Amino acid sequence: MRRREFITIAGGAVTYWPFRVQAVDDQSRPAANTSRKSRLILLGTAGGPTPKPNRSAPAQVIVVDNTSYVVDCGNGVARQMVLAKLKLASIRNVFLTHHHSDHNADYGNLLLLAWATDLAKRVDTYGSPPLVDMTRLFLELNDYDIRTRIVDEGRPPLRDLIAPHEVTADGVVMQDENVKVTAALVEHPPVQPAFAYRFDCPDRSIVISGDTRPSENLVKLSQGADVLVHEVMHLPSLDQLIATEPNAKTLREHLLASHTTTEQVGRIATEAGVKTLVLSHFVPGGYPFLKDEIWFDAVRPYFSGNLVVGRDLLEI
Ligand SMILES: [Zn+2]
Ligand SMILES: [Zn+2]
Repeated sequence: MRRREFITIAGGAVTYWPFRVQAVDDQSRPAANTSRKSRLILLGTAGGPTPKPNRSAPAQVIVVDNTSYVVDCGNGVARQMVLAKLKLASIRNVFLTHHHSDHNADYGNLLLLAWATDLAKRVDTYGSPPLVDMTRLFLELNDYDIRTRIVDEGRPPLRDLIAPHEVTADGVVMQDENVKVTAALVEHPPVQPAFAYRFDCPDRSIVISGDTRPSENLVKLSQGADVLVHEVMHLPSLDQLIATEPNAKTLREHLLASHTTTEQVGRIATEAGVKTLVLSHFVPGGYPFLKDEIWFDAVRPYFSGNLVVGRDLLEI
C-alpha cells in the first residue's frame, strides 16, 4: 500500500501525497486567462438533500480560459461560486446529472442570481427532461422580480439568456473551443435517466459521476480519464446511523441499489484506469463528521492511483 502523507493547504483543505492541489485563494497561481489549463473546483461535496454545517450541496465547476462549466446546482451553488472567486458572468453552460433536489435545487437560482449580478451572455443548460418545463416554470415563479429588475435596473430579459437542452441518451451533448462534453447513462434508481458527464479539456479529461450505483457505462465513459470525481458512501457509518430506524433493512437496500460504497468506488476507478480519483458527494456528508483519513483508508486498498478526499472549494 502506498505511503500516506497529509498536506494541509491554504483554506484548511487536506489532500494526500503524491497528488497536490491548490486552494482557490492561492495567490501564487498564474492568472487563468493566460492559460488553457483547466481548473476543477469542488463547490459542494455533501450528498443528500438536507443542509449540512460542514459541506455544501453537490456542485462543481470546470473553468477553461475564464469560461465556467457548472455541473449540478445544489443549494448555495451561486455563493460557492463567489467564494471560489469566480465571476457568475463567466458561466457558459450548466449541466445537471439528474433531478434530485440536492443536485438541482439552485438550477434556476444560479441563473437568476448570475443575471442579477452581471450575466449578459446566453447560458446553455443541459439535463434530463423535464428541464425545459422546469426552466419555464422557474422564470414564471420569479416573474415579478425579473420584470422589476428589467425596468428598474435596465437588465435584459432573463428568458432570452437561458437555453435549456434535454439530454435523453448517451453521447456528445456539447462541444466548443474549450471542451467536449459527453454524457453517459448511469444507474440511480428510481431516478431515470441519470447521467455522468465527461469533459475533454485541452489539457486533460475530467469525469463527474453524478449519483450512481456501480455502473459499467460509467467505467466505459471514464476509460483512461485523468480525473474521476465520484460519489461515495461509507457503509459502516450508515449502518450505525440507520440501526435505530424501524425500516433499517429497506433503507439499506435502497442506498445500496442507487449509490456506491467506498470499496466499489475504488474498484471502479481501478477498472477505468483513471489517474486521479476524487471522492465527493459524501454519504453521510454531515453527522457523524467523518475524518478525511476514514474515507481515504476505506478506498485505498482498492485503488492505487492519486486519491483525493474532496472538500468544498478544493481545486484540483
Ligand atoms: Zn445526490
Ligand atoms: Zn440522487
